[in-house]
Amino acid sequence: MTIETVDKIDAARMYIRGQWVPAISGRVAPSVDPFSGKPWMHVADGCEDDADQAISAARHAFDQGGWGTSTARYRAQLLRRLGGLIARDADRLAEIESRDNGKLLKEMRGQWAYLPEWFYYYAGLADKVEGATLPSDRENFIAMTRKEPAGVVVGIAPWNSPALLLCWKVAPALAAGCTFVAKPSEHTPASAIELAKLFDEAGFPPGVFNVVTGGPELGKSLCDDPRVDRIAFTGSTEVGKAIAKAAADNLTGVLLELGGKSPNIVFEDCDPEAAANGIIAGIFAATGQTCMAGSRLLIQRSVMDEVLGRVIARAKTIRMGDPRDPDTDMGPVANAQQFAKVTGMIQEALAEGAVLACGGPEDAPDGLFVAPTILTNVTPDMTIVQEEVFGPVLTVLPFDTEEEAIQLANNTDFGLAAGIWTLNIHRAHRMANAVRAGTVWINAYRIVSYNAPFGGFGLSGQGRENGKEAIEEYLETKTIWIELTGATRDPFTIG
Ligand code: NAD
Repeated sequence: MTIETVDKIDAARMYIRGQWVPAISGRVAPSVDPFSGKPWMHVADGCEDDADQAISAARHAFDQGGWGTSTARYRAQLLRRLGGLIARDADRLAEIESRDNGKLLKEMRGQWAYLPEWFYYYAGLADKVEGATLPSDRENFIAMTRKEPAGVVVGIAPWNSPALLLCWKVAPALAAGCTFVAKPSEHTPASAIELAKLFDEAGFPPGVFNVVTGGPELGKSLCDDPRVDRIAFTGSTEVGKAIAKAAADNLTGVLLELGGKSPNIVFEDCDPEAAANGIIAGIFAATGQTCMAGSRLLIQRSVMDEVLGRVIARAKTIRMGDPRDPDTDMGPVANAQQFAKVTGMIQEALAEGAVLACGGPEDAPDGLFVAPTILTNVTPDMTIVQEEVFGPVLTVLPFDTEEEAIQLANNTDFGLAAGIWTLNIHRAHRMANAVRAGTVWINAYRIVSYNAPFGGFGLSGQGRENGKEAIEEYLETKTIWIELTGATRDPFTIG
């Protein structure tokens, strides 16, 4: 796959009702390659009118188009076909995504190669959505439940793993029988458009999957629309709260995957090399731009020098450069706005007394690069320890006892993930129970799968993606009572 092919993408169109349409306003917006700093493609810049069109299309496909009442077998066939097309094009799609968001091509290749599994898994789950026959305590009645698709889903994605985080929503929603309007981030619209081409090729009926491109105003219009039944959002906590408020006006159901400030907790009885490796993976992989980044390192004081020494030594060898070069370990941050935020937070922490163990704002190549940065001499209440940076910045806090480690780990408004490094099985289980986080890894970090629920406590969100839990987010339960005798009942007594 050459860059020439990537440049030929004619993407200034949105995918609505199975048609490729420009924004109603005619406006287009550039998408910038974070490595070169230059626009590399243009997309339609959608607004309220385009949101209206896309929701109408999804509504029609659900209510009249037959998708809402289609068989699970039919939906599963299409989802499997789509998974196969993604597998066929994985390398090409990885190149496009790497170009659009600056993440390593080798990471994007792995992500796209794995992505079909979400469609295969939910294809398999589609015909296992079952209601129940209830033991009725009413004489001469049967009660039963049916699980029905919720309806029209709006999925809004961020820029850090654009396609993956969108597919976490699309696969279970479509398997459940919902129709979908996708809005990718304005920074990384390319992969959603490419996905729409594959939906088209797979033969999904018009309006079942729609893609609109644009910024926050477009997202807001989608979330304000009372015809939407579910909003599934991944992004910042701030925008997540705004979406929850907008949804409240229409009582639209929301699934929110938001930010994090996850601890990596290292005990003296760990394997120091494995722990150091996991800490590096947790905060410097993907340039720290993952919601689950292990951005708070908590280390038992007795192994502080040994483990931190290994982490600093490894961090200093991280190679920054072209995301498409296989020797690169860390690409640039994804956009200029994010670069300003990350470097600003480092400066602020240094001004408050943090000490640079390595990295820092001046220690990186030109462009949107931020060097792997480790900050010591921080206190638990400092902004850099409490707020999400979403960049390659690690803070280090020592502790002496397990109780202190739990207290520090839970001293956050977030609760997305945690890593625990110990070879003591008793402690591992105690800690897994005590830490308030949606995912806990023992002697590992940053592992996710289609069948393992993922989501957060507190300000990290509500609801769960992946696994059986995710399909439930897109279903409604209906209870059906059936009278067995045909007798006329007294209308003024209950039941
Ligand atoms: P963001 O919240 O700024 O934007 C996310 C999306 O929301 C974009 O598509 C944007 O256009 C849209 N949007 C913005 N304002 C809106 C509004 N008022 N109504 C509707 N839509 C609106 O987030 P970002 O900067 O793209 O992504 C980074 C954030 O995402 C980080 O905070 C990170 O932690 C979080 N994130 C969370 C997870 C998770 O699974 N928990 C995964 C990845 C990223």
